[in-house]
Formats: sequence, C-alpha cells, structure tokens
Amino acid sequence: MSDVALALTGIRRSFVSGTARLDVLRGVDLAIQPGEIVALVGPSGSGKSTLLHIAGLLERADAGEIRIAGQAISSASDAERTATRRTALGFVYQFHHLLPEFSAAENVMLPQFIAGRQRGEASARAAELLARVGLDKRGHHRPGKLSGGEQQRVAIARALANRPAVLLADEPTGNLDHGTAEIVFGELMHLVREDRLAALIATHNPDLAARMDRIVTLKDGVLVAA
Ligand code: ADP
Ligand code: MG
Repeated sequence: MSDVALALTGIRRSFVSGTARLDVLRGVDLAIQPGEIVALVGPSGSGKSTLLHIAGLLERADAGEIRIAGQAISSASDAERTATRRTALGFVYQFHHLLPEFSAAENVMLPQFIAGRQRGEASARAAELLARVGLDKRGHHRPGKLSGGEQQRVAIARALANRPAVLLADEPTGNLDHGTAEIVFGELMHLVREDRLAALIATHNPDLAARMDRIVTLKDGVLVAA
C-alpha cells in the first residue's frame, strides 16, 4: 500500500556473544498508516528498543525490509539512510538527551540546521513547537533549568522539528512521575494527531497503551496484535 508511512517486513536481529546467540527479532512485520498511533508493548528484554532502533535507522537489521514514507531502505546508501533519518524520522527516548550547553529553543533548532534550514526559519519553527507544548516562555532556558516534564516536552518538540512522517518513541514518559507522564503523553498524542504522523511508541504503561489506536506485543521475537 503506497499510503503506509512505516512498513517493516520480516525484520530479524540476533546478538551473538561468545558461543551464545540471542534471536531477539525473528521476523517482525508491521505497517503503520499516517495518523495512526501504535503502542509497542512486551516484557523487558523482549526487543522493543532493538526494534525501534532498527525502524529509526539507528541500527541495522540482519534481514528484512523497511519502508519509510514510501522509500525502501534496504537499497538506500548510507547517505540516503542518514538523510531519511534526519528528515523523515523523529525519535524520542526515555531520557531527554538534550544538549546541556544550549537553550531549549536551540535544542529544537539544531536538527533543523543539520537539515539545512536557515536560522530565521529554524527559530520560528522552534518557537511554534515550544508553544504547542506550552513552553513558549521557557525557550531561552537551558535544559538544567527545566523540570523533567518540561525537558521531555522539549525533546518531543525537537523530534518534530523537521516535520517527520514517522515518530518513534521509546518509553517517552517512563522517567516521569505518573501525573506528569499523563499530561506529557496527552500532548504527544495531540501533536502526532494534529500533524497526521505515524507513531510507534513503546510503553510499559497499560493505561497509556490503551489510549493509542492499536497495540502490538513483542512475543518470542514476533509481533502479535493485542
Ligand atoms: P526491551 O527494550 O524490550 O527491554 P531490548 O531491545 O533492549 O529489549 O533488548 C532485547 C534483548 O536483546 C535483551 O536480551 C538485550 O540484552 C539484548 N540486546 C540488546 N542490545 C544488545 C546488544 N547491542 N548486544 C547484545 N545484546 C543486546
Ligand atoms: Mg527498551
């Protein structure tokens, strides 16, 4: 289907240490449409992060095909993979990974500079995104001056800075207290829906998973629908 934003087909990944071999992903298939938010669940160690890193082009699969916004990745060069990662994909981690020496706004501008955008445009986009997560007054603060929830909002704004087609998130509110997690997760869902992104979000929290459009569970290296 041409409309699919993210398609994973037959994704395999094993880790070998010494004589032991761990088959973490044994043929993962998943297709996500624009505007669809999918919860990725499964016990700790089931391979959620591995799958997200592969879908996010941060790691390579041993086998399988990835299509992002219509582009087949297996035939892409390293330069094309990097370009796709920068422009078509946004990634949010459990820990914000903001650069401490830069302001919140600058953290949202940096990926735009890397994608070739000019300062004025990048600044306007950062201001717009920070306003959408309720941080319009906090853009000049460095991450160390922000609360955990605010830091994660900046990380979400940064992930969306280059208008990706696909948002990948690995326990994005897993480091926040319950109340803050609820609020930040609601904002994340709202942004993803407004921009009609496809999203794959790993979570341990069944309440959050239930609020997404669909739940897929990693079990014995494959995805099963909930
Ligand atoms: P989850 O995110 O669901 O907790 P992970 O994807 O982090 O699971 O890990 C899945 C399994 O793969 C775990 O057993 C983990 O120890 C193993 N693993 C992950 N990355 C590596 C690696 N780089 N080298 C060896 N083993 C790894
Ligand atoms: Mg993980």
